[in-house]
Amino acid sequence: MKGMFKHVGIIVLVAAIGFSMTACDSVLGGGGGGGGGAAGGEPTPSGSHTHQWDTWTVTTAATCVARGVETRTCSLDTSHRETRDIPVDPNAHDWDWIETQKPTTTVDGVLAGVCQNNLSHAENRPAYATGTSGLAFELINGNAYRVRKGTVTSGVVNIPAMYRPDKNSPYLPVKEIGYTGDISDSGAFYNTAITDVVFQSDNVITIIGSYAFSECVSLTNSNLSIPAGVTSIGSYAFSNSGLKGVSIPAGVTFIGSYAFFKCTSLATVTFPTRVTSTMSIGSYAFSESGLTAVAIPIGVTSIGEYVFENCDKLKSVTLPLGLTSIGSYAFSGCTDAGLTALTIPESVTYIGSYAFSGCAKINPIFIPAGVMAVGDGAFKNWVATQTINVRYPNPTAADAAWRNNWRTDCGAIIKYWNGSTYELP
Ligand SMILES: [Zn+2]
Ligand SMILES: [Zn+2]
Repeated sequence: MKGMFKHVGIIVLVAAIGFSMTACDSVLGGGGGGGGGAAGGEPTPSGSHTHQWDTWTVTTAATCVARGVETRTCSLDTSHRETRDIPVDPNAHDWDWIETQKPTTTVDGVLAGVCQNNLSHAENRPAYATGTSGLAFELINGNAYRVRKGTVTSGVVNIPAMYRPDKNSPYLPVKEIGYTGDISDSGAFYNTAITDVVFQSDNVITIIGSYAFSECVSLTNSNLSIPAGVTSIGSYAFSNSGLKGVSIPAGVTFIGSYAFFKCTSLATVTFPTRVTSTMSIGSYAFSESGLTAVAIPIGVTSIGEYVFENCDKLKSVTLPLGLTSIGSYAFSGCTDAGLTALTIPESVTYIGSYAFSGCAKINPIFIPAGVMAVGDGAFKNWVATQTINVRYPNPTAADAAWRNNWRTDCGAIIKYWNGSTYELP
């Protein structure tokens, strides 16, 4: 009640001052509310100059129930001031938040807000799910958090979408899984016994840091969905973990080297059909994993060195049109008897050394006309039951165009293009 009377009083005073100051040749002697010589609110002549007004400055902010006040001062004579009121701001509440429903580890609670200016103003906001108790959070750039294991070393890990260290701090989004500390403790959950990692549906994770889940052998999720907002999966992020399946979202632009290295239980990696921007897949990213099938998404232009090396259970490989480069050893050692077919897209221009060495069941394979270079031993250890079709008229032309050693230790039948079909030289 007292407050209301005070507000009414201010409004009346402001209105009076505002009225007195509308003429630009009038000034307020002694300043608004000051006890100067001139009578408060009485205009006095400005004398000889034209006022040079500074910008308006808020002296009393408007609230949801009361007008505010702003003032400007003449830079030629600071005793010259103008004052005007600011309209009521319907959004300028003075909230007092009460947790009417406690959040749990995975379910948001409710924060009920009551405006101290007017108790009929009310609003509910989420009291965000807390995530697993014991996680450690690190403030990044003052506007987000990075999370790591803290005291959590086993069981299911629930990563919260938002975090605040206490009730007086604002909720900020949890954007990264990682740790920037000493490399000896690198990896948010490195080498822990965690069994699953679960993200809130409203999460805004963008980065999974290097080594984040490396060596987590109990992390045996059959299809871990990397959150849709993730753009970067760090080097060694899941290496030597127990993962059985993983889904990569379309916005990922970086999969670090060794990201899924030695994930021997990892049977499936589900890429989107198409990536939204360039996706780079680092060397050894899936090397020595248990992958049985992989379809590289449209938009990937390069497969790095050793990316699928020694994936000896790999039965199906789909490469997208638009791919230009297949790195050295990319599919070396993919010896599974099921890997009988592999199409090199017409867009490919480079095949690295030993790229398909040991892939002894693919038959036939076609090397497109646009390939400018084939590295040493690209088809090493291919056998006589396999056929390689080359878009050059004879061995001399192919050897000259690529490299002399491209067919080193290759026992396959190599056929050359005579203008209408492939035939033996
Ligand atoms: Zn002036
Ligand atoms: Zn209010």
